[in-house]
Amino acid sequence: MGFEFDLAIVGAGPAGGAAAQAAARYGLRTVLLDEQPKAGGQVWRASSAAILAAPSTPEKREGDRFRGELAGANVQFLSRTRVWHIERNDAGWRLGVVAPSGSASVTARGLVIASGAQERVIPVPGWTLPGVIGLAGATALFKQEMIVPGRNTIVAGCGPLLFYVATEILRLGGRVAAVVSLNSRANWARALPAMTARPDLLMRGAHWMMSLARAGTPIYWQHAVVKITGTDTVEQAIVVPVDDDWAPRSGAAETVIDADSVCLGHGLVPSVDACRLAGADLAYRPELGGWVPVADTNGQTSVPNLWACGDGAGIRGVGAAR
Ligand SMILES: Cc1cc2nc3c(=O)[nH]c(=O)nc-3n(C[C@H](O)[C@H](O)[C@H](O)COP(=O)(O)OP(=O)(O)OC[C@H]3O[C@@H](n4cnc5c(N)ncnc54)[C@H](O)[C@@H]3O)c2cc1C
Repeated sequence: MGFEFDLAIVGAGPAGGAAAQAAARYGLRTVLLDEQPKAGGQVWRASSAAILAAPSTPEKREGDRFRGELAGANVQFLSRTRVWHIERNDAGWRLGVVAPSGSASVTARGLVIASGAQERVIPVPGWTLPGVIGLAGATALFKQEMIVPGRNTIVAGCGPLLFYVATEILRLGGRVAAVVSLNSRANWARALPAMTARPDLLMRGAHWMMSLARAGTPIYWQHAVVKITGTDTVEQAIVVPVDDDWAPRSGAAETVIDADSVCLGHGLVPSVDACRLAGADLAYRPELGGWVPVADTNGQTSVPNLWACGDGAGIRGVGAAR
């Protein structure tokens, strides 16, 4: 049978968008599908149409440039279109999609899955209280709606996203009650030599730390939020020191911090549901975030005409995704 497209790409983030532009340059009839209203994925998420003017941030500038390039490419972009089903079809693919106009199907000879990552949140008692949101999820609030999670927020978990989220809350006029980092200062010091390979990111990190220092934001290094309390919403969080395995130190004193919201996050996990649905073999690779599709250096998976790329093929960040 004939296919509507040579190539279908699921996910219009940095990875899927770059794949679509490359495919179009080779003259392939290419369709790019994303459930979001605009291309950009997580890191370059576009602001909502209700926001008429937003201050320029590095993510906004990169995202606008990316969307401009994509608009100029010979790619059919189906936004607000969620791929809910994938099946092999005569040596090609049939995708079941839900779009604003209803459900439909799209056929293509080749399929690229660039579905990105999802956030890992290690639960603590009280994590389902209103006012607790994912750390990475908070970035969606900032970028799309310019909204802060609350009036007085604890930012807790691990990795650089902690300091980015805390700084963005301050920039948007919120207050950060505390940053609670599972990593120690020594962890960061050990990572410094490797980080010098990216002076731009190092500069951003320094800017975040200076913003927090200027605001007088307390940082609890090598601590964890172990409990969040409140009646109808977040009222307090209990914070304790942890050891190198992030287990609470026995007998250590607890600190109670008042807050109305908590951003909690412990890294990212590749979104492999679509690859699994398409029948790709998966392998457990902790250094890439967990289960990832088995793929060669071109992203070719164990299934013919199926490729995976970006964070969905292993957490490597935006630079590698593109
Ligand atoms: C919530 C969240 C926030 C993040 N914020 C940042 C940040 O602020 N800064 C940073 O450096 N990194 C951030 N990251 C990491 C970031 O995702 C990556 O480094 C980078 O965006 C990866 O690009 P990608 O193209 O692989 O995936 P993504 O950018 O995640 O793009 C994947 C796209 O696939 C779409 N998609 C997935 N499944 C389907 C489906 N079934 N049907 C249709 N569309 C689908 C999604 O809507 C998304 O647009 C964040 C990650 C998450 C999960």
